[in-house]
Amino acid sequence: LSQLFRPLDLLGMVYRTIRQGLIDMEAMYNLIDTQAEIADAPGAPALKVTAGEVRFDHVRFGYDPDREILHDVSFTVPPGRTLAIVGPSGAGKSTIARTLFRFYDIQGGRILIDGQDIAQVTQSSLRASIGIVPQDMVLFNDTVGYNIGYGRAGATQAEIEAAARAASIHDFIMRLPQGYDTRVGERGLKLSGGEKQRVAIARTLLKDPPVLVLDEATSALDSRTEMEIQDVLRNIARKRTTLIVAHRLSTVVDADEIIVLDQGRIIERGRHADLVRADGLYAAMWARQATERDEPVMEPAYSTPH
Ligand code: ATP
Repeated sequence: LSQLFRPLDLLGMVYRTIRQGLIDMEAMYNLIDTQAEIADAPGAPALKVTAGEVRFDHVRFGYDPDREILHDVSFTVPPGRTLAIVGPSGAGKSTIARTLFRFYDIQGGRILIDGQDIAQVTQSSLRASIGIVPQDMVLFNDTVGYNIGYGRAGATQAEIEAAARAASIHDFIMRLPQGYDTRVGERGLKLSGGEKQRVAIARTLLKDPPVLVLDEATSALDSRTEMEIQDVLRNIARKRTTLIVAHRLSTVVDADEIIVLDQGRIIERGRHADLVRADGLYAAMWARQATERDEPVMEPAYSTPH
């Protein structure tokens, strides 16, 4: 009998790992499309994204009902604008992204896209509208072309290549032994962190979602790769509503709004210049970064005494 349960255990483990990490949520949802905890409301309509406004309205959430993680979180990202979420490790940054994707139902408040409560629309329509560039992409054991094309069923080779070009990965792919037919993943060619992230970006470009969640890598990429990726990300964020879980201050300077999260509360908000002027935590992080240029400063940089 234990034989019978083993694959299920494994699946559960993989599922939990991915849920924890915001690693590659979209892929996961397509692999395991049943989820006991979250159900569509009876007769739920599909989400209709018209402009792409994302709104958190007094959101309260805890993974465990006895331990609230997000306390009364409210923000609005107007259509096409960029919100950066910064704060120390464990502040709840990824949790915001997970609740937007409706991995979990919130306990208070509402999350709205173009005025529609995400708990009242079908999960499939919600997830089709949100693209995620995870910090650590899990590649399928298949060709690099397949891994990009996965972003949209029925994409043509020309569309896949256009997406790869826009993500600055086309030239690299053309130099591989079998070009787009080169197998990658655990059993194929291993790609570097930066290459995998570009594959994720190309996949997302192909999906062309109105709402984008970028989970910035904590691990250091070399500074040239980092700059190239930031350029590409800036481009794809331009016309879409974007939430960035940011670990580097350099990414957030241009954001339309920055929220500084600490222990699940928004403690500061504004644009970069406002926050520097306000001379609070964000300003302290910024000052620190000025002296420690290439360091990913977010987590160790500050924590408030409580
Ligand atoms: P980091 O910058 O380190 O990724 P974060 O700001 O994204 O951190 P979250 O991952 O959102 O932080 O975690 C916020 C809090 O929620 C933490 O206290 C964490 O321990 C808790 N938490 C995260 N995932 C779960 C889970 N699946 N079950 C229970 N608690 C969790």
